[in-house]
Amino acid sequence: MIDETLSMSDEPVRAQQAQKMNDEGQTENVLRPQRLEDYIGQDEVKRNLSVFLPAAKKRNEPMEHVLLHGSPGLGKTTLAFILAREMGVQIRTTSGPAIERPGDLAALLTNLQPNDILFIDEIHRLRPAVEEILYSAMEDFCLDLVVGKGPSARSMRISLPKFSLIGATTKLSSISSPLRDRFGNVLKLEFYELVHIEEILKRSAAILNVKIDATGAKRLAESARRTPRVANRLLRRARDFAHVNDGETVTMDVVEKTLKLLGIDELGLDATDRKLLITIADKFKGGPVGLSTLSAATQEEEETVEDVYEPFLLQLGFLERTPRGRLLTEKVYHHLGLKLPNSML
Ligand code: ADP
Repeated sequence: MIDETLSMSDEPVRAQQAQKMNDEGQTENVLRPQRLEDYIGQDEVKRNLSVFLPAAKKRNEPMEHVLLHGSPGLGKTTLAFILAREMGVQIRTTSGPAIERPGDLAALLTNLQPNDILFIDEIHRLRPAVEEILYSAMEDFCLDLVVGKGPSARSMRISLPKFSLIGATTKLSSISSPLRDRFGNVLKLEFYELVHIEEILKRSAAILNVKIDATGAKRLAESARRTPRVANRLLRRARDFAHVNDGETVTMDVVEKTLKLLGIDELGLDATDRKLLITIADKFKGGPVGLSTLSAATQEEEETVEDVYEPFLLQLGFLERTPRGRLLTEKVYHHLGLKLPNSML
């Protein structure tokens, strides 16, 4: 189980965050904004937080439980750490699949200090038995556990310190309504505006000590799938490209050559996006096609298609979700230079 306790000085926060390894873990964590003022974009979410954070602080109470939802890499974990820092409390982090038994959750909860935050990533993947005991923990700050088995089993009620739960999910629809109803705030992270991605790139370049000019930043932002994690990853690749070629600055030319090398097009689509779209066009005449059929035909996991690829394709207006499955739009045929099917002529 991932279980991290954070104190509030910079070093331990960095050290603990480094444990959350993603594709290029260490650098990614260095780039993570630590304060709300450095958290770029997501104005609606920040507006919301600017009301309920000071209110909770003033009352000296834990914040209400918060559910953050949105595609991978949009900043849910970052925001959870920022909230802990702004509230001046510790944060412990874990993830839905890591909590195997109710006892694991009980151990986490009973070790919290008053007002602490428990962050559960991928909360839609909690086991039902664990989710059930979370209800009373969230609502009444107590745990109802059954101890022992068979006739000698007895139930036990343990009271907990008042805490805030922050849940993060890429799939709001997979959260049961009893769980969802127990969150006082449900905040949606949107894909970022281009100007905000550019701002994130400039901030990251300054931290990484890389020079990037305005045209380079603009071009990189356009291919970053409106997602900070992708933007930062592309920036690192462009930096590598510049260095290998004895350049100092990430210019538009450097960006274009880097993207070409990575097989990423001007909209940010990569080889897997293209495979998905071309499969729907060729094998399924543009759809509709069900998720499981599409996943079998492309040999990509259903969850990856649904959580990682589809949201951005939907955002681009390349895909439509219908009750009968996924359907391509005309835009795809133009973008990929494919012949339009008769039904669209
Ligand atoms: P998620 O938990 O939603 O998958 P993360 O919080 O891990 O996403 O964010 C991925 C990376 O993107 C972070 O390491 C951080 O550097 C960057 N990032 C995310 N949101 C922002 C933001 N609003 N401003 C600046 N950088 C951000």
